[in-house]
Amino acid sequence: MTGSLVVVGTGPGKAELMTPATQAALARATDLVGYGPYLDRVPAARANQCRHASDNRVELDRARHALTLAASGRDVVVVSGGDPGVFAMASAVFEALETGDPAWRALDIRVEPGVTAMLAAAAEVGAPLGGDFCAVSLSDNLKSWGTIERRLKAAAEADFVIALYNPASKARPHQLGQAFGLLRGLKAGATPVLFVRAAGSTDAKVVTATLATADASVADMRTLVIIGASTTRQVGRWIYTPRGEREATS
Ligand code: SAH
Repeated sequence: MTGSLVVVGTGPGKAELMTPATQAALARATDLVGYGPYLDRVPAARANQCRHASDNRVELDRARHALTLAASGRDVVVVSGGDPGVFAMASAVFEALETGDPAWRALDIRVEPGVTAMLAAAAEVGAPLGGDFCAVSLSDNLKSWGTIERRLKAAAEADFVIALYNPASKARPHQLGQAFGLLRGLKAGATPVLFVRAAGSTDAKVVTATLATADASVADMRTLVIIGASTTRQVGRWIYTPRGEREATS
């Protein structure tokens, strides 16, 4: 097996937030595999580079396709948005590896880290992830809504800052409202809630609310929602979570 497969993330949007290691992997690739809009973020790196754009819902097929190309000797880069390991293609590649041709395990496979949406969104508003935090995807395509509710409850009880990926889509308009409903019973109404759309891109937009007033319809597929811990607070126009449990003293 002489081909290679690198899984990369484009970062949240701005070209400067794509790492140099990811740019180098893209420049070496003979083939790029990914969801069309993510491939569109990748500038043409070399002549004769094949682009295999596909629909977002067939991640495992896309991963198998990438492994098949690599096994045939191509230098393949699989492109995700943000970081490739956060709710993205890196896991799909290893899932395909686990269930696919055992010979694929001899391939040169690597993952490059990228700037995930949660980090770009936090930086837009200050430092809301400054204490302990967790990330939950609200998509129930791959897990049950019951599992999502159990994790949200546990996160609220443990007083984590909660970053919500995939808060809403056209096919799932109601889940963020249900999540807010559940959390309203467990956390203070004054808890800061941040809606950050297109974080880390030139058209980033922030809506700041509280858990009591948060309107779920503000979120779409390009929005990351951050729900504060009990210590998350506002200072000037920034929102931050102190690193420790002590109260800030003036
Ligand atoms: N691998 C990606 C996440 C894929 S899940 C990453 O690491 O960022 C897709 C979800 O990520 C979207 O529904 C949205 O909640 C979030 N997301 C991706 N890019 C975003 C951006 N620029 N701003 C805000 N949220 C974003």
